[in-house]
Amino acid sequence: MSTKLIKENQLIVVETLKVKNMLKNSKLAKSISDVSWSKFIELLTYKAKWYGRDLVKIDTFFASSQLCSNCGYKNENVKDLKVRKWECPECKSFWDRDINASINILNEGLKIKASTT
Ligand SMILES: [Zn+2]
Repeated sequence: MSTKLIKENQLIVVETLKVKNMLKNSKLAKSISDVSWSKFIELLTYKAKWYGRDLVKIDTFFASSQLCSNCGYKNENVKDLKVRKWECPECKSFWDRDINASINILNEGLKIKASTT
């Protein structure tokens, strides 16, 4: 999986989740240790170097799930992991939680990349 991602993309943006804290949350613990997130990031990091790709890591404090990727409105209700879909009260965009977060993470990564190159 990590090789495929690196080969097919010039830029990859990941969230550096606080894995230790998340493992304390029993609901999250199983799915996080299943995918072994830290190990996966480690693989991406050295393969990005091998293949000359850019890997940008986003700060854990970036509210990727809560921000509307269309208008930037911050919806605190989305902190609740049970909220899978939501409508932005500001611009009326309708979001799938993970798709909205991934757009925010990509945009943030592009911003960071632009400011460092
Ligand atoms: Zn919005």
